[in-house]
Amino acid sequence: MSVSPLFPFPDGLEMTSVSETANEVVVCVTSQRESSPCGQCAMSSSAIHSFYRRHPQDLPCVGRPMRLILTVRKFFCRNLDCSRKVFSERLPDFISVSSRLTMRLRTSVQEIGFETSGKGGERLGGKLGIPVSDVTLLSSLFLVPLPEMGPVHVVGVDDWSWRRGKRFGTILVKLETHKIVALLADREAESVRQWLVQHPEVEIVSRDRGLVYLDAATSAAPQATQVGDRWHILANLGDAVEDFLIRAQIRLEEGKASPQKEQAEATPLSSFSATPASQRKSQARLFRKCKLYQRVQELHATGMSLRKIGEDLGLARNRVRKYFRQAPEPPRPTPRPLRESRLDPYEDYLLQRWSQGERNTAQLHREIRERGYPGSASLVRAYVGHLRTTTADGSPPRSRKERANAISPRSLRGLLARKQEDLHQEEQTRLDQLLSLSPQGETLYALLQAFLKMVRERKHQDLRSWMVQAERSGIPELRSFVNGIRRDYDAVHAALRLPWSQGITEGKVNNLKTLKRVMYGRAGFPLLRQRL
Ligand SMILES: [Zn+2]
Repeated sequence: MSVSPLFPFPDGLEMTSVSETANEVVVCVTSQRESSPCGQCAMSSSAIHSFYRRHPQDLPCVGRPMRLILTVRKFFCRNLDCSRKVFSERLPDFISVSSRLTMRLRTSVQEIGFETSGKGGERLGGKLGIPVSDVTLLSSLFLVPLPEMGPVHVVGVDDWSWRRGKRFGTILVKLETHKIVALLADREAESVRQWLVQHPEVEIVSRDRGLVYLDAATSAAPQATQVGDRWHILANLGDAVEDFLIRAQIRLEEGKASPQKEQAEATPLSSFSATPASQRKSQARLFRKCKLYQRVQELHATGMSLRKIGEDLGLARNRVRKYFRQAPEPPRPTPRPLRESRLDPYEDYLLQRWSQGERNTAQLHREIRERGYPGSASLVRAYVGHLRTTTADGSPPRSRKERANAISPRSLRGLLARKQEDLHQEEQTRLDQLLSLSPQGETLYALLQAFLKMVRERKHQDLRSWMVQAERSGIPELRSFVNGIRRDYDAVHAALRLPWSQGITEGKVNNLKTLKRVMYGRAGFPLLRQRL
């Protein structure tokens, strides 16, 4: 055919016809090659067994998708030592054995994948005549060969979500150099096992505390010491603290702890103020938790296993177990962000009258109008209604300002985790006030600080006695944290003893964040490419 310059194919692949359908250009191609290497033993054979057709997608033709009808053969393997009797024809320069994309198309798809997110790439591909799903797009990226890294003695293993928490891959990092050595398309023990078996030089496996990687490392790298990831351990402890604060309803308000209110307002402590955004965030977190809890219960009621539920909802298995065991606290209404109200200048007066026992909206409205209030009675009614509901349980009325300044549990968690010598005076005052609210809070604080010190100073020998104390504290959140440690004691202990923990020692925290972004972020791929 004379059109071959328009449709170039490698030697031995002959085009026999071109046609079109409404959606695509269809090109028939037949392999005329003399022989093919066996997929098992690589010995060449020219003894044809049969013909069959493949229908791969190829690069688009003038903006239209191009489909091939590719006629290839099966050969007999003549190597008597080979276990394979019949094998499919290999076209190593054109398409791999079971692929539905030619290699030149695959390269384009990978380029699109690197520059875009999954769904964006799908849309772009559609416009360019490359109809691929986001899944194909992203899984193509796993086929990009990684550069040879030499022996890996310390490897970090973690999962990472590459499809909005629905699909997970595994990332392996050589911790001596912080270079990614492998990306696996799933987070199954088997995939990790295969990699580990090929790397008997591995001495240390740093991993998260999921059971999957524990299984893989235990069976495939028995020579290696397993180290729990400190980042995950500390995050779990932090979650326990936050859960406690929420459950115990320990709250603190900005400014209240400070004796000199004016001064505190002049220099706000930005990291501890509960901005509307951060409140919304922690509120959304709680709401998500509750919804997940309901989903877990529903799915379990249908007879689904916890493992399957985890996969379905994109949850780590210990999360599933946690949600299965206990319902998280339902979200409470968040204080609204403080907006200017015409009532503001009269609030003090209203609160004063409230504490004197005045409950009548019309009366209160009359009184403040006499003092210059220009607004309607409905604002007053709403305000009185609010006072009524918030003081129904006997708690004192709180001004709008106090409510808007409530500090989020997340910030309190941050405060509790700070080194005492690093605290400013206001923070110290706030901490003292927080601890005075609850004896359990005080115990929790002491245990938290002891744990952090143990991690900082690698006092692994103290771990056992810490666990005993935490259990005796009677704080359920701590008890379940300790149970988590007990399930994976050796790795947690090693995490306190050894410097390796995802390779990120002190001072490399930013690096860890980059890595986490690579691991968990949707925007990870372009970044990942730069790292490779
Ligand atoms: Zn063979």
